[in-house]
Amino acid sequence: MTEGVQPHERLNAFIADDPIYKWLDLQDLWGEGNVSGNLGSYLSTDKLYRRCEHPRCKTGRPFNRMPGEGMYGTAFHQEPGLSSEQMHDAAWLAAGPVHSLTFLCTGCNSSVFQCWIEAHPQNRHTGRQRVRKIGQVPPYEISPSEDLLDALGDDADLYKKALACLSQSYGVAACAYLRRILENLTVRLAKESGEGGELGTVPEERDMETTIRLANEALPDSVKIPGRNPLSIVYGRLSVSLHRKDDQECAEIAEKAKRQLELIFTRIRDERRQRRQRREYEDVMKELESGPS
Ligand SMILES: [Zn+2]
Repeated sequence: MTEGVQPHERLNAFIADDPIYKWLDLQDLWGEGNVSGNLGSYLSTDKLYRRCEHPRCKTGRPFNRMPGEGMYGTAFHQEPGLSSEQMHDAAWLAAGPVHSLTFLCTGCNSSVFQCWIEAHPQNRHTGRQRVRKIGQVPPYEISPSEDLLDALGDDADLYKKALACLSQSYGVAACAYLRRILENLTVRLAKESGEGGELGTVPEERDMETTIRLANEALPDSVKIPGRNPLSIVYGRLSVSLHRKDDQECAEIAEKAKRQLELIFTRIRDERRQRRQRREYEDVMKELESGPS
């Protein structure tokens, strides 16, 4: 569990915002030894806070759990119909019981969020109680904002692929796409630093240290960190993760790296825009100073 985050907040984030197929460990949430029996009861929440896209809302809203599906989210449907013996035979059963949760926005009283959560089929045998979303409506959002696409420039396509991987919890692939984006950025920045003119498009691993050092010097002050190299930190963590961690761990790293990259790209774009405006400002000022033309 993330330090300082309350269990009900983490549960809310899992239901409302996590991508599908990302596991949530219920022991991490509620504490060792506190989870047993019907896992649906641990998903029991009568309120959910999430963004509503209805034209009347377009903001974060409380959603109320809709009645009529059982207070404790019991498994709603099994196809084919399984006997209770089969249900308990984890070796035979590929999927665990699926719980259906439906919520209605209290702002517009119109927008519905529905998701299906699978309890891990091994839970009765291993003691590890895990759940994951296996579907949701409306779907997980993977379209970046126009502003972010503008900041990403030529790397927007790679970024969209990273988002698509994250939406399916393919964390290893997401790390690989993000690392490529970071490589492209560092090469561009290193060239701009004036000393990296000889660098190729994608640097060899042995050149990466030099490239990242040069690129760091070209970062805007707003994302520089004194005495450290943020590009090197993100690059190193992505590299280690994609070679040594599983999809779940990689997805968590990729999510953090993605947010840092978004900020770095946006700040670089903003700084360039400001420099351009400054130059135009000074040029016009010179024209005004030199009298009528
Ligand atoms: Zn609404």
